[in-house]
Amino acid sequence: MGAQQFYRDTWAEINLDNIYYNVESLKKILPEKVVLFAVVKANAYGHGDIQAARTAISAGASYAAVALLDEAIALRKKGFTEPVLVLGTSRPENAALAAEYDITLTVFQKEWIDKAKECLKESKPVKLHMKVDSGMGRIGVKTKEELKDVESAIRENSCFYLEGVFTHFATADESDKTYFNQQLASFNELLESFEQRPELVHASNSAASFRYPESYFNGVRLGISMYGLSPSREIETELPYPLKEAFSLRTRLVHVKEIKSGEKVGYGATYEAKAPEWIGTLPIGYADGWIRKLRGKEVLVDGKRVQIAGRICMDQTMIKLPNHLPLGTEVTLIGRQGNEFISVNEIADELETINYEITCMMSNRIPRVYIQGGQIVEVVNGLF
Ligand SMILES: *Cc1c(COP(=O)(O)O)cnc(C)c1O
Repeated sequence: MGAQQFYRDTWAEINLDNIYYNVESLKKILPEKVVLFAVVKANAYGHGDIQAARTAISAGASYAAVALLDEAIALRKKGFTEPVLVLGTSRPENAALAAEYDITLTVFQKEWIDKAKECLKESKPVKLHMKVDSGMGRIGVKTKEELKDVESAIRENSCFYLEGVFTHFATADESDKTYFNQQLASFNELLESFEQRPELVHASNSAASFRYPESYFNGVRLGISMYGLSPSREIETELPYPLKEAFSLRTRLVHVKEIKSGEKVGYGATYEAKAPEWIGTLPIGYADGWIRKLRGKEVLVDGKRVQIAGRICMDQTMIKLPNHLPLGTEVTLIGRQGNEFISVNEIADELETINYEITCMMSNRIPRVYIQGGQIVEVVNGLF
């Protein structure tokens, strides 16, 4: 049991057994030599970076991946000792810092290498993965010439160690395979230009890991599906194993009252009772990531679906209750309650976005409660 406490009646439950299962199930499908990178950027898509990373390692992952050097350092400061790759850009001035923390950086510009080598004179060598832009149009080398220039600049200097090369797919989660195949072909072609191909070659995100064994090379990067979510609705039927969602969001009734016909609720007095009805108040609002667009959406109370009443406030939300319910009654905003289930996908559909965005937007004001083997094993209050 972690030492942290929280004093509000709203929390997220993170089911570590489900994260373990999602990672282990992919690991079982992969050939032995394929390294599994656990993508834990953005605080593990809102689930908690160190908890998700440790769970993934115990389930068979051997590398963690994040977007920023700051996120990688945060993992180190929390005691994570396995390899960590920064997938995004970092400043060449910080190469020595990365080396000091034994963090692997992504590179794709000759200028970066030239600047970094000035900064690395006194330091240990820094591990690098070269990024190839095979069609995502974001970061990476695009031509053979660029690849060769970057490779030779790296190899000329002993303060660098080129450990890997990777690319990222733009459409691996879409039914149409045309663009994916073009990207794969272009990545394969660029790989031919290495004087010496780095030992780790990886390309697949969750979607490609599930659908395209030909893009395994010897590493895959599992992000969204590690948390039990499908990369898209389109490929839900193609998943090789049933995913188990790890994120639930719960709160409690902190006020219950009966209002008369004609009485109003919330800012703008937009909700009006048509008859006498029971209204409950929840201590969660848009500052928690429970945004105003969710107005009118359903939540679970007493195993039933009920509606949000009126506008969502910064810190509070009112709901229409079927009848009087005691203070402290648990309300589920995301997850299972009795026979009802509100999936992250349901919220994503409601907000016309993707499931990725939903767990990422839950703010650090919501404490995370970690569940393993049916027990609370740790509590993290992001505020202190
Ligand atoms: C975020 C990210 C991933 C993980 O993608 P998922 O779709 O969440 O599996 C993999 N690779 C890169 C480069 C990323 O930025």
